[in-house]
Amino acid sequence: MNSVGETTLEINLNALAHNFKYLKGKLRPTTKFLAVVKAFAYGSDMVAVAQKLEALKVDYFAVAYVKEGVLLREAGIKTPILVLHPQPINFEKLIANCLEPSLYAPKMLRQFVQVVTAMKQKNYPVHLKFNTGLNRLGFWENDVDYILEHTQKDDCLKIVSAFSHLAASEDEGEKEFSLRQIDTFRKITEELEEKLGYTPVRHILNTSGIINYPDAQFEMVRSGIGLYGYGNDSKIDAELQPVATLTTVISQRHKIEPGETVGYNRAFASTGYRITATLPIGHADGIGRHYGGGSTVVLVNGQKAPIIGNVCMDMIMIDVTNIDCKEGDPVLLFGDDQSAEAFAQSANTISYEILTAISQRVTRKIKG
Ligand SMILES: *Cc1c(COP(=O)(O)O)cnc(C)c1O
Repeated sequence: MNSVGETTLEINLNALAHNFKYLKGKLRPTTKFLAVVKAFAYGSDMVAVAQKLEALKVDYFAVAYVKEGVLLREAGIKTPILVLHPQPINFEKLIANCLEPSLYAPKMLRQFVQVVTAMKQKNYPVHLKFNTGLNRLGFWENDVDYILEHTQKDDCLKIVSAFSHLAASEDEGEKEFSLRQIDTFRKITEELEEKLGYTPVRHILNTSGIINYPDAQFEMVRSGIGLYGYGNDSKIDAELQPVATLTTVISQRHKIEPGETVGYNRAFASTGYRITATLPIGHADGIGRHYGGGSTVVLVNGQKAPIIGNVCMDMIMIDVTNIDCKEGDPVLLFGDDQSAEAFAQSANTISYEILTAISQRVTRKIKG
């Protein structure tokens, strides 16, 4: 491990390219690929990731909010960008930046038509989101007639795609439910196509969907977590490469005597002689308090050191009693030798959460 002397999130763009190729290899050559780069590209570096994927000829990007899409446009990204969860208050900004909204409710559709009309746009590209069981966002099956009634007048909108989202694509035990969602989606889009007179691009699969339901790839898939190196499945994880590696450095070592305590609220009480190390990373950097208490480990010179006591805002303390190490030595939280998935699991959460939690205070270093 290459120490850079401070807490650093290294973003490996070669790993990103590898993952992109791997996932594309699971698809028909004609299936379009949408890269989900919301939340700073899952906590990495949205612009660097988008530039790399644009160079690799990805077909689409998706972000959650308009401001994320604006950042990509300001960085010169030209690829179409789907905004998954736009807020009506940002519709003008969305149009001014050539971003494409996901529309998911009748009222929102009317509001968007109004803004598009006021801004004198024709055939503005939009994407229709249908709810097939996640019950989060989406039109209902019986909204199709309403949608057509409001999109076909004056040709102000062009329905580029219709999509839905699986609730449990990674869960083998929910196969029946997922297949039912796919079937519902197929029926909705058949009706839509018939009434529309053309076929919008259809997409329902996320990363685990690509792995588990390739027959439902339709014309496009949407992948986020897989691009960043995680597949919600140990077999797939073995084929992917982690894009983000989080390292820090030992600030200070302490000798602890029996009966002494470490950190806030004296949460770690020592029964014997211990050596601890203090690291410059805390909950303000994204290592939440649930990583404290001894069940999560970091790697110091390749050896496992538990995070002890309470996580502080800017620091954590680890137990390095049996580890040969000194102040200034590098420490790995997650990356190649300990996956973000394993790190997250030790605190009962998931790779998505730890990756996106790494705060903007942490220095990003781009590799490749
Ligand atoms: C975040 C998101 C994705 C990406 O899912 P992964 O599991 O990260 O591949 C796809 N579709 C929608 C609607 C999302 O919100």
